[in-house]
Amino acid sequence: MKNTTLIRADELERILLETTARKAVQRAVDLIAESIPSCSVTVLGVDIDHHVHFDAANGIAWSVLRKVEVSFNQDLPQNILDIIRERETCFIEDVGSYPQWRRRSASEVFSYVGFPIVLDRRVVSIINVQTSRRKLKPEDIEALRPLIHLISLIIARYLKEQQSANREKFLSLLHETTLDGHRAASAMEFMNAVVKRIAGRLGYQYVALLLYDDETESLVLHSQKGYTSEYEGLALSIHDRVGVVVRAFRLRRPVNIADVRTCSYYRRAIPGGRSDLALPLMAGGKVIGVLNLESKKAGAFSREDVRNLTPLAAGVGLMLASMQIKQLLREQALLDGLTGAHNRRAMEGIVAEELERARRHAHDLSFVMLDIDEFKSINDRLGHAEGDRVLETLVAVLRKSLRIIDKVIRYGGDEFLLVLPETSQRETELLLERLRTCVGAQVLTAMGAVHCSVGIATVRGDPDGGDLVQLADKRMYRAKAVYRARLAEDPGY
Ligand code: GH3
Ligand code: MG
Repeated sequence: MKNTTLIRADELERILLETTARKAVQRAVDLIAESIPSCSVTVLGVDIDHHVHFDAANGIAWSVLRKVEVSFNQDLPQNILDIIRERETCFIEDVGSYPQWRRRSASEVFSYVGFPIVLDRRVVSIINVQTSRRKLKPEDIEALRPLIHLISLIIARYLKEQQSANREKFLSLLHETTLDGHRAASAMEFMNAVVKRIAGRLGYQYVALLLYDDETESLVLHSQKGYTSEYEGLALSIHDRVGVVVRAFRLRRPVNIADVRTCSYYRRAIPGGRSDLALPLMAGGKVIGVLNLESKKAGAFSREDVRNLTPLAAGVGLMLASMQIKQLLREQALLDGLTGAHNRRAMEGIVAEELERARRHAHDLSFVMLDIDEFKSINDRLGHAEGDRVLETLVAVLRKSLRIIDKVIRYGGDEFLLVLPETSQRETELLLERLRTCVGAQVLTAMGAVHCSVGIATVRGDPDGGDLVQLADKRMYRAKAVYRARLAEDPGY
């Protein structure tokens, strides 16, 4: 055995001058391996949950180590478990006399020594030295101590730096996301900002935000980066058996797939995707959506990433939930409580928006003012509740008969404004004929069919024609006067 009690100054300098901690550790490992004949040396990183991975090696092929890693992660060998638990060096002079020794085929190990590297009272790495052909003696181990100390220092410093840089990165991401939440005018704007920020700050290539829609019982894609546009509006049923996103939603916890080839329920969304991490967005004990991250690299998301992303997902979930509630309240504030039609407060915005759209596209736009005739007598004779029912039924019939883009606004007690984009005067007249039939057949009371008076005002392209709503209103009153006069002449009209 060469003299390892003293690290030569030039070797020490070379180790310390390495540009990365990984290279420095590898050089130190090489130095240990050089100093002991027929030995192999590995550095095994140990995660907080005892997941292990080899970080440096000499004397064993990486292809072999990857397999060992898999077997270790299924079931850690006793010597490794002891080191993690005891935080003490484990020396087995002759593995033949150690019954729990896990033998790899075609590998002949004589002696083993494992040195723990402890950081914050936790074993973060283990330096394993094993010899074939020759027995390690206690003196050999003592001779290795200075190098082991050096590696410990390098690893500890590196991990500390990495940990604090990582924590800082996630903390500032959380802070920036909170600011995004305050700045955003809508939930949609906030989601776009979050996706962009996560992708930009953390360097993730594929980021998707899905929200739960309880009407369709599915997770709907609202914002994404990296995926093709064919996924726009994608809806994943929560009853599906496939999908990491759906799994995270149902289990209410993060699902991290290190290699999708080994995952039976992975649903391919990107070519060559290898890892997938889905985090539920929680708010008030409910999952309101899922943040999904994918990578073409296997094992792209570490357990530390999951730990750091979990509070971020919680923060995003809470902010989204409060935005959804605010949005709902805002929407409700613009709806009429009885009929569900838009209310007078919403009217100004709807009218201005439609006029602008008609001008931009040089389209026709029609307004119809509609008022129930003799509505007061329904209230007076059949009661207010029956009056309410008539109003509700009327709006339901109108909405069923109109297109999605048409708007029904409750202008007053029994007066409604219909806003009909891309509809000419003639088309409006035809539509009203149809409406008259539907209302006559479906809006009925003990006093018979409900009759309405209407007034139309149409604009083509340029809206500079005065107040069209007022015009429709005036025409409706004129129609009502005609109706009244006819009714006076012939009460059965
Ligand atoms: P006209 O033929 O001239 O249209 O008269 P009308 O009887 O239809 O009624 P008018 O426009 O004079 O008054 C509307 C009535 O609608 C008065 C009000 O008591 C009633 N009303 C307003 N809002 C509601 C409501 O939410 N529910 C019920 N049941 N009645 C309402
Ligand atoms: Mg009326």
